[in-house]
Amino acid sequence: MSTFASQFTKQAQRMTRDLRHRRLIRTALRNYEVVRDQRRAAFQDWPAARQAAAETKWEAINHLDRHLVEFADQLAARGTKVHWASTGTQARDIILGIVREKKARSIIKSKAMTSEEIHLNEALEQAGFEVVESDLGEFIVQLRHEPPYHIVFPAMHLTRGEISELFARELKSAPTNEPEELTMIARRVLRKKYITADIGITGANFAVAETGMISITENEGNARLTAALPKVMISLLGIEKILPRLEDLALFLPMLAVSGTGQPLTCYNTLYGGPRQPGEADGPEEFHVVLLDNRRTELLADAEQRDALHCIRCGACLNVCPIFRNVGGYTYGTTYSGPIGSVITPHLRGLQDWKHLSAASSLCGACTETCPVKIDLHHHLLQNRRNAARQKPSFFERLAHRAFAVIANRPALWSIGKKLGRLAQPLQRLIQGTVLDPARAWTKTRDLPPLAKESFKDWWRKRS
Ligand code: SF4
Repeated sequence: MSTFASQFTKQAQRMTRDLRHRRLIRTALRNYEVVRDQRRAAFQDWPAARQAAAETKWEAINHLDRHLVEFADQLAARGTKVHWASTGTQARDIILGIVREKKARSIIKSKAMTSEEIHLNEALEQAGFEVVESDLGEFIVQLRHEPPYHIVFPAMHLTRGEISELFARELKSAPTNEPEELTMIARRVLRKKYITADIGITGANFAVAETGMISITENEGNARLTAALPKVMISLLGIEKILPRLEDLALFLPMLAVSGTGQPLTCYNTLYGGPRQPGEADGPEEFHVVLLDNRRTELLADAEQRDALHCIRCGACLNVCPIFRNVGGYTYGTTYSGPIGSVITPHLRGLQDWKHLSAASSLCGACTETCPVKIDLHHHLLQNRRNAARQKPSFFERLAHRAFAVIANRPALWSIGKKLGRLAQPLQRLIQGTVLDPARAWTKTRDLPPLAKESFKDWWRKRS
């Protein structure tokens, strides 16, 4: 039976051998660290800024109950409908309910990883609604019927040529290798969709408790159009997006831009505080905010790893991770990939099925070192390994351990076992890695060292 772990192993083996893919990812991230470091240098004191950001998120997450209520009350006071969703299913049902009530036909969407997490597009399409992604990278992967490859760069695994072929096939455009022309092709399609969409769905980068506003940061202006043109706006966000004060954005907006893309600040930074108010020229007539838990409160209850909720989804830990750079985003099989994905997925989707992700790390600590909010990522991976080891072992593991205990506790049996092992080892070497090798799960990726010709006990006995 194929498990998530075996799929991961197979895909990782395939991708690490795919030199073209590795070259593409290296090229895409070629200048990332240089530019990021230049931008960091523009901060008066980057380590102090990281410390301040970590403390602000600590305050936000450790007083989440208070901040969330404040956020929701402020939004509701300006006419926003606030919905609480415990699970992904509930969030989908809430959004489907709004879409049906409004008798919407088409929906435009800006980038939202939470919507990927709850498979919102699939649910809306199955219910007969047209959903169009407006972020260029998301638009591209949607045309390919793929999820985003990376939380910040959804189409980083594709070349211009591949995108041109895709557009020619799906949008009947003329082939081109020019990024500007490719962008204009997508732009022409998307402009019409904004105008005809009945509902705009967005995510959020931050949720400001003090003022009851959501902050969206982007480079294309697509989220602004998604929010401004349709009559109804829905924002779906995880409850961990909270920041206590408006002034916190002065630190978090540049920090997110520097860590995410190496920009001093993203091009468009917008705050949304409710539906259009009397006298305002634009904005949605109706504004819904869906606050998603989806097991985040279980992570909140884990004092050891609670700081994983501090994540601002900048993607920096993915960019520097040697595992991500070799196996790529799709290998993880999860919405959130790379080090942060390996830390939180076992919490969000179950340790039993996703414990293998804790081993998808060299524990080099590059992720922890780069994280702007100082999440101790590589130690959390170790803690997940420990937690997995504490789980009830499988039937075969129990059997193997019992058999080992019986033999190891009886010197005579141990001695026979050693002799048999030495006799069997030449045969094992012949069949190593084949289906006949009982130790192939081990020997596929590691050496089984030869047993010593003579045990220490025998050697000692001879000496004396
Ligand atoms: S864990 Fe840190 S580095 Fe990774 S995406 Fe989140 S904030 Fe960025």
